[in-house]
Amino acid sequence: MAKAGSKLWQRPASEILRAGPGTLVAELDRNGTPGFSGAKSDGTALLEERGAVLSGLQEMLYANGRSGDSRSVLLVLQGMDTAGKGGMVRHVIGHVDPQGVDHAAFGVPTPEEKRHHFLWRISKRLPRGGQIGVFDRSHYEDVLVVRVHGLVPTPVWQGRYEEINQFERTLVAEGTTLVKVAMFVSLEEQKKRLAERLDRPDKYWKYNPSDVDERALWPAYQEAYQAMLDRTSTEYAPWYVVPCDRKWYSRLAVTELLITALEGLDLSWPPADFDIEHEKGRLADA
Ligand code: ADP
Repeated sequence: MAKAGSKLWQRPASEILRAGPGTLVAELDRNGTPGFSGAKSDGTALLEERGAVLSGLQEMLYANGRSGDSRSVLLVLQGMDTAGKGGMVRHVIGHVDPQGVDHAAFGVPTPEEKRHHFLWRISKRLPRGGQIGVFDRSHYEDVLVVRVHGLVPTPVWQGRYEEINQFERTLVAEGTTLVKVAMFVSLEEQKKRLAERLDRPDKYWKYNPSDVDERALWPAYQEAYQAMLDRTSTEYAPWYVVPCDRKWYSRLAVTELLITALEGLDLSWPPADFDIEHEKGRLADA
């Protein structure tokens, strides 16, 4: 099964989805399944299988953290409303042990947060050693919504791209592997998902009337996303561009990205810090 599944990827998600100089947000097929030749049923079956692999790797990361390893992984999820950030957390991160996950969602800054530098609230929520951090929105809001709505003067948000790069460079140097996922849903699919929120009582809570106003600003947001990819996709912290009209694909792709990141840490189980034979003897006598 693992072999059959892995053959469905023509190229690893980490290669095919990595943002590069040729990445054009305007031309992105948001309904596509880049690199993956299987159908939805293949994708959902593979997600379960790969979720188990992710879970095993996360346990090893956690075990190493308990033994003093300071390394961590940080998944950054950025996307327009309805792109599926919440579902990503449930269906991808849902595979791993919650005690190894540091989840943080960033909404409109509180009055206290507004009084500080934009990275202040971010710095407080970084994952500790052995943890997978998950950011549902992030410091990138400060070059997205803030840029589109002109919430600060232009030179201020312009300067933030470089500030973010420096910030992430330090994070990586200190042992955090960043997995930055830009989630792209199409304008039509967004409309469908918003309509569903209005049709289903169990989804009313997700509906926010301002989401409809934001649709008028779609082109400005697309430009802001392009600038974000152009200016903050670095060698040490690249962006991955994930089409999200098909939820099964985006979830599978992000699972693969996390697996690649964890495999890159070359983890093994921490050795026992006690005398195994001695303990076996003691247990036998106990
Ligand atoms: P969600 O819409 O993801 O369920 P919330 O309603 O709690 O979550 O908050 C998200 C809103 O907060 C979005 O409209 C987002 O653009 C906004 N937001 C996040 N960060 C900032 C920021 N730094 N400045 C202004 N608005 C922000």
